[in-house]
Amino acid sequence: MGLIVQKYGGSSVADAEGMKRVANRIVAAKRDGNQVVVVVSAMGDTTDELIDLAEQITPIPQGRELDMLLTAGERISMALLAMAINNLGHEASSFTGSQAGVITTSAHGRARIIDVTPGRIKEALDSGAIAIVAGFQGISQDTKDVTTLGRGGSDTTAVALAAALDADVCEIYTDVDGVFSADPRVVPSAQKLKTVTYDEMLELAASGAKVLHLRCVEYARRFNLPIHVRSSFSNNEGTWVVKDHPEGGAMEQAIISGIAHDKSEAKITIVGVPDRTGVAARIFQAIADADINIDMIVQNVSAAATGLTDISFTLPKAEGAEATSILKKLQGEVGFASIQYDDQIGKLSLVGAGMRSHPGVTATFFGALSDAGINIEMISTSEIRISIICRAADLERGAKAAHTAFELDADQNEAVVYGGTGR
Ligand code: ADP
Ligand code: ASP
Ligand code: MG
Repeated sequence: MGLIVQKYGGSSVADAEGMKRVANRIVAAKRDGNQVVVVVSAMGDTTDELIDLAEQITPIPQGRELDMLLTAGERISMALLAMAINNLGHEASSFTGSQAGVITTSAHGRARIIDVTPGRIKEALDSGAIAIVAGFQGISQDTKDVTTLGRGGSDTTAVALAAALDADVCEIYTDVDGVFSADPRVVPSAQKLKTVTYDEMLELAASGAKVLHLRCVEYARRFNLPIHVRSSFSNNEGTWVVKDHPEGGAMEQAIISGIAHDKSEAKITIVGVPDRTGVAARIFQAIADADINIDMIVQNVSAAATGLTDISFTLPKAEGAEATSILKKLQGEVGFASIQYDDQIGKLSLVGAGMRSHPGVTATFFGALSDAGINIEMISTSEIRISIICRAADLERGAKAAHTAFELDADQNEAVVYGGTGR
């Protein structure tokens, strides 16, 4: 008998029909002789709607209360799903993250899992029941408050539980058939990948391919746990996220595995910064102290006559206001001229292990963007990724152009988007 952890995203349980459809799939896995643990997300766009609601009450909701509010979305799902399974004649019990033993740090809205102690889940499984766990939430070790893991965090709950329970596989059910060579909502000619390595998936997730939460991939890599990403709306084989591509696998030769796009970042430019030792350290220390994640950084060569330079960096839009206000406080001390904030940028990334051994990837990429009339504003690279910043309005066109330039387009469009609003 195997132990399977399945995770169903919001679009898979968007309404009562969806709940019933998913309940049937879960019961089928149980009938196959498996022990089944299910992690479930909030229904449809519930999380976004709850955030909108909170913002109508106050522009900056308190982290503790916002987490309390948002976790309610997953509680609704878990109870309804347990009812749907009971209705099919099978035992199912639902558990909040806290009840399931998901212990986290205390950082509201972006808590990290420290430990998983799934005693009650094991008891439920031993009694023959299916365990349903509310995704994306836990309880802080220090404050004992309810926390959330950040948007998309239910994937991480599933992988963390799978690791703690020593599950055979973690199945992530979503509204597309797997991980594609690009977001099928934007590039309809995208192709489904049979396998993608942890390293490639980490880069894709970090570059905005929200099909898997970044930390879920980090977790899976640490525990060498295979993830099967697939659709809850079809029976098609999905994508396996694994350590290495199988020997002789079709993707082994691919230079580029995937293209990711991201509209969630903004760019801050600090204009007229004195080009002196320690200035950049001072600026980025202040940003780091506020726990703000920065992504790309570009510093211009300083103009000899003035000894001044400009520094630009990108960061999540959600942290833009805080970063700007921190920098304003530093202006007197550091002595820069001004700050510019630009939230109309897009990030386009190419990811592939094959890049290591293929020179010329950058030239092909930039050539495709140039042919599409797209201006590149910033560039950053890693061993298996190239990212550029362009205007947000050009991003989707750039993704399509790069996809075609690297000959990733399917002969016939096969990517199906079964549900979800793409919100
Ligand atoms: P869920 O609600 O199931 O967690 P998400 O909306 O978080 O689903 O993630 C699935 C979505 O990720 C897809 O509908 C698709 O638009 C988007 N996506 C972005 N990049 C990719 C990619 N490379 N492959 C597949 N889906 C992708
Ligand atoms: N419901 C949460 C969100 O929308 C968590 C998740 O779905 O993974 O971000
Ligand atoms: Mg998701």
